[in-house]
Amino acid sequence: MAHACYVCSFYPVPDGEGVECSHCHRLQYGNKCPRCGQNAPTRSKDFRVFCTACGFERGPLSGSGLTMPINMVGKPSQFGGIASRVLGTAGIAVTLLLVTLVTLAAVAFSSTVLGALAVLLATFGSVVAFLLLRGGKKLQQQGERAQHDAREQAVAAAAKARGGVITASDAAGVLNVSVNEADALLTSIAKEGAIAHAEISHDGVVKYVFHEAAPVHVAPTTAQQPATGVRVDVNGPAGAGQPLNPKEVAQQRVDREFEELKKTRVAKGD
Ligand SMILES: [Zn+2]
Ligand SMILES: [Zn+2]
Repeated sequence: MAHACYVCSFYPVPDGEGVECSHCHRLQYGNKCPRCGQNAPTRSKDFRVFCTACGFERGPLSGSGLTMPINMVGKPSQFGGIASRVLGTAGIAVTLLLVTLVTLAAVAFSSTVLGALAVLLATFGSVVAFLLLRGGKKLQQQGERAQHDAREQAVAAAAKARGGVITASDAAGVLNVSVNEADALLTSIAKEGAIAHAEISHDGVVKYVFHEAAPVHVAPTTAQQPATGVRVDVNGPAGAGQPLNPKEVAQQRVDREFEELKKTRVAKGD
């Protein structure tokens, strides 16, 4: 089974936990919810998992067709990353200590063998520490990325279940994080602008309006006009002097935006 990417609507993205969209490179979490029909991540509570979008109970935490609850996504990598960095730092300390002791001994006994050993220890120790630190950083980044993508997917699904609009405090409840954290996530999503934008209501509350991304690379029979929310650049570059119809211009624009999105994510070290 497959679904359309929840960010860029690219189809197909195979169902499964943590599967990457080959177009926008978002990791996707959560199977289709039988009640609200969204591929929303789940959230665990009391050994049961619930839909983050509509709250429907999806089953026991250890049941078949297990989905990774949002509060656990990315955690193993993050913990592994921290452990690896702690080990790396400890490795540097131990290496420094050993090299100092062996160097002192080499000087005291005027021993070239001990001197060579100190050099060997220093080299070996720094390589091991470097690998541990680098691996740890990478693992931590992977964990943070998975967590970000799962949270983004959850707030998008939760917003759709609320008529397309969500506030930071709503999102905080959905994600079980602080309002500040939820607000930071929503702000970054709105800044990217691909699936949502921010609006301030007359009573001063910031609301995040989610829209469907224009379908990309779908079969021509199902391709539709881009949904609202995607800015159509009428004065966009026309290809080789050919007049383009608005649909093609919009399509190019969407593709360009996702290319940029992809580049930013690659630049972040994904
Ligand atoms: Zn995508
Ligand atoms: Zn649901």
